[in-house]
Amino acid sequence: MNTAPARIGIFGGTFDPIHTAHLEVAESVRQALGLDRMLLVVANQPWQKEDGRTLTPAEDRYAMVEAAVEGRPGLEPCRLEIDRGGPSYTIDTVRQLKESYPGAELIVVVGSDVVPGLTTWREEPALRDEVTLAVVGRPGVTPVEPPPGWRAVTVPVAPFDVSSTELRRRLEAGGEVQGLVPDAVVRCIGQRGLYATGR
Ligand code: ATP
Repeated sequence: MNTAPARIGIFGGTFDPIHTAHLEVAESVRQALGLDRMLLVVANQPWQKEDGRTLTPAEDRYAMVEAAVEGRPGLEPCRLEIDRGGPSYTIDTVRQLKESYPGAELIVVVGSDVVPGLTTWREEPALRDEVTLAVVGRPGVTPVEPPPGWRAVTVPVAPFDVSSTELRRRLEAGGEVQGLVPDAVVRCIGQRGLYATGR
């Protein structure tokens, strides 16, 4: 019987919408680090992104993540932050997971664009004591070292120059996103009339 503590990846995002690069990152990190599970944690209120735009409702973003990971063993949608409500802080998610899975090793996955902002994360010192950081490169972003005190590994991932911002622009302009998001997500977007596709 395997009694080793679980190794769980926490890949948080707004996922508005989830895209191919997100899936590539989740799968590559899971395989490279031999993680038992990779949770795609859908932010309820991503406090880092309060730029005035209206987010797609959390339940719709969650439905897209659910559709995207269907049939991909090891990748799981996670709704802890939605169920908790309010602003989404990774430290709260980590504490909840530690309670549910005592002894689990938690690996927080971020793209390199996120690294410079880590010092602004809530309870950064407590968070960096609890987790290992897995950093992946993002096209167009110059990699920087994580702030002092973080245990961090860099994981090579095939570069995909895609962002949710670009996808929202395309969809809102009536354009195509085939190949940039999984087909199941394209269907979900159409069925729910997201990004003005129901006009
Ligand atoms: P937006 O364009 O709306 O800001 P996004 O495409 O950056 O969204 P998020 O949901 O904010 O997507 O990203 C969640 C995580 O995925 C972050 O850690 C981010 O760095 C990472 N990520 C997003 N796109 C890529 C990409 N193309 N390559 C590597 N990492 C990525």
